[in-house]
Parts: sequence; structure tokens; C-alpha cells
Amino acid sequence: MYSCVSLQALPLITVTVGSPRDDGKICIVTTAQGADEPHKVEFETPSVDRPLTPGTPKWANYVKGVIQHYRAGPIPGFNAVIATSVPLGGGLSSSASLEVASYTFMQQLCQDDGDLVQKALACQKAEHTFAGVPCGIMDQFISVMGREGHALLIDCRSLEVKPLPLKDPKLSVLITNSNVRHELTGSEYPTRRKQCEEAAKALGKLTLRDASMEDLEAKKENLSEVCYRRARHVISEIERTTKAAEALENGNYQLFGKLMVESHNSLRDDYEVSCPELDELVSIAVEIPGVYGSRMTGGGFGGCTVTLLETSVAERTKQHIQEKFRGSPTFYITKPSAGSGVLPK
Ligand code: ADP
Repeated sequence: MYSCVSLQALPLITVTVGSPRDDGKICIVTTAQGADEPHKVEFETPSVDRPLTPGTPKWANYVKGVIQHYRAGPIPGFNAVIATSVPLGGGLSSSASLEVASYTFMQQLCQDDGDLVQKALACQKAEHTFAGVPCGIMDQFISVMGREGHALLIDCRSLEVKPLPLKDPKLSVLITNSNVRHELTGSEYPTRRKQCEEAAKALGKLTLRDASMEDLEAKKENLSEVCYRRARHVISEIERTTKAAEALENGNYQLFGKLMVESHNSLRDDYEVSCPELDELVSIAVEIPGVYGSRMTGGGFGGCTVTLLETSVAERTKQHIQEKFRGSPTFYITKPSAGSGVLPK
């Protein structure tokens, strides 16, 4: 029997508990209420001539993808149950948490080489190919490599990670779930990606990671107005991330918070992935003295905001939001937590 957890940078967890079986079958149950029906799936272990393919229910695709892209084998049959405290679809990476918990579980059944970067990349591949979401690497990296009391600076080009201390007891992180999810076409993320790829091409760069604000301004007329704004968000966000990492290292939380708000405004105006509820949550949060900054998190159009504040004002900020926000928010007051691991037997 193995139990694996993938902790977010937040103390929200996905736990997979299970044991091997010897008839080559895999049976998985999720207890997550928000997952589509049925909550139990059964299928044969994959082989070279019979690989797994995505299907229904959709939630099982994340797990099937991880099994298919697992970096060792042969994988035995198994029974597993998945439980989570991460809200599904709230922008807190429940999907990455599910993938990483599944991968960590597989590691107990059939060891791989233990390479953390490759583990995160295999989980990302599962999401690309089985869930059809061309996501980046941040969520999987933090789920695999998050460290207690630390934020993680991730270089998406070199795949280098640098833990940055964030353990001042006077500081807390308040996650506010707007509990709003705007139903959109589902193509928003791929569209943004395409626009950024187009912008990079127009700038003569492989990716926007290689472009500077000067490059963008110099070639502004080669870009459509929308692609220009998408690129301006990405390039300025990379600059803000570098500055934010420095601010954290210097204990300059004022600056870190200011960069969070600038990031939110850029996501709202240039990348256009926010919504009135998230904008309202940010504006209300920063009204309280002792709140350093706030921004939306996750894919946008609903979900959560993340607010950096002094621990002493956390309750007051919650109350203030509750009184002024038009919806029914839920809160988590958190500290950065460790990434995935195996629970003691
Ligand atoms: P998030 O921001 O939470 O990652 P996504 O829309 O990317 O949002 O992923 C949410 C989807 O992931 C859910 O709709 C469900 O299919 C799947 N999922 C996440 N966690 C679980 C779980 N514990 N059990 C079953 N499915 C899950």
C-alpha cells in the first residue's frame, strides 16, 4: 500500500492511496466531487501495441496520461483511490497536483531514476497530450519541487529552479477563491499561446523569453495591436519576475507587493485573462494597511487571487473582503509548503 502526496506551494494536498494487483488491470477511484462522472474507471495496463488513449471521464485522462508517459516500466496493474483538498478548476493547479500525485504513486510501484525535472516534464506532457491543455511548466514544477518556507523561481527556458526563502513568520499568503468561473470557449489559453508565438516570430525570436521591451518597441509596427499587447504582458512579466525574486531576497515586501499588483494589471489589460470579480478582489484587498500586494492566479476568468500580507492583518483583510466583495468568497491563509512526497506507512 502506497500513499503519495503532491503538496502545492500551499498546504492543499492530493493524496493517492493504493496497492498493486497481479491481473494487469488498473482501477482508479476519485473522491473529488467536482470531477465528471463516473468516478471509477477500470482499464488494462498499457503496452507498446496497446497504448492508453484519452477518453471519458475527462478527469481520468490526467492519470492515464501520467501512466502512459511514466518514465519506467513495465507498470503493474493497481487499485488506487485519489482524494484532494485542492479546489478543482479554481486556478490552484488541482490538475498538476493530480498528475504529480499519480506520478509519485507510480514511483512506488515501479521505480524510475528519480529525476525531478523529468518527472515534472512527464506530468506536463500528460496534460498536453491527454487533457489537451498546452500548459506551461510552472504548476508541475512547483508541485514536484516546492520547498517548505520557500517560493520557487523557475526559468522556463533553462528549466533551472531557485528556491527563495519566504518564511518570515510576520508574513502570510491569503488565497481568496472568488468561486466564480466564467464559461468561455475553452480556446483562450491556446489562443494566447498562438498570439505570443506569432509575436516572437515577428520579433525574429524563438520565444518571447529571448525578447526585450526595446525589441518589442522597435518592431511594434510588425505586430497586430493584440499581439503587441500580449507580448508586452509576457516580456514585462518576465522582467517583473526577476525584480520580484530580488525583492524577496532583500526582504523588500513592499516592492514585491507592488510588482504583484502591476502583474495583475498587466494580466487584466494586456493579456486580458482577468474578470470583474478578480479585479474587485485585488482592489478590495489592497485597501487594508499591511497588505503588500495582490494578483489573480491560475488561468484566469475566475478562480483565485493570491495576496501577500502581514500575518497580523490576515483576519481583518478576510473580513473586509467578505463585507465588500459582491460574491461568496472562500479563503485559505497559507504558508509556502513542500512539494510531492511519500507519506510514512
Ligand atoms: P486547476 O486550475 O484546478 O488545475 P484545471 O481546469 O486545469 O483547473 O483542472 C481541473 C480538472 O482536473 C478537473 O475538472 C478534473 O478533471 C481534474 N482533477 C483535478 N483534481 C482531480 C481529482 N482529485 N480527482 C479527479 N479529477 C481531478
